[in-house]
Amino acid sequence: MKSEYQGSCHCGAIGYRYQTELAPERWSIRACQCRFCRAHDALSASDPSGSILFAVADEKLLNRYRFGLRTADFLLCHKCGVYIGALIETERGQFGIINTHALLNTPNSLAATAPVTYDTEDIAGRVSRREKRWTPAELELSPG
Ligand SMILES: [Zn+2]
Repeated sequence: MKSEYQGSCHCGAIGYRYQTELAPERWSIRACQCRFCRAHDALSASDPSGSILFAVADEKLLNRYRFGLRTADFLLCHKCGVYIGALIETERGQFGIINTHALLNTPNSLAATAPVTYDTEDIAGRVSRREKRWTPAELELSPG
């Protein structure tokens, strides 16, 4: 059975609903070592069998940040600055990760984190990994 976990930025302008059958102690939680993720203290989680709905209450407050190979949008709140997750669009659809540090209620017994680096990937390898490991995702924009 799927459970739903909600997250949002600090001011509530942007958020996510993450659905997964995985118990929190079985989540794969990655501490990416790139400068962006370290600066935000971001922890990434995803489940290819789950789903993510990113909900943006006011699209003017969504800041999509691209860097590095520029294959994904990192979603930040324009007002409060919080990073909630990332979204990639490929020919297979849209896929996302959540930042578990943006969860509204952190589950007890959340899995341990594993440091990861993806420095050596090229664009094809990066897109392919995300299609396999990220979560099918949608972005819902409201005009505000
Ligand atoms: Zn905010």
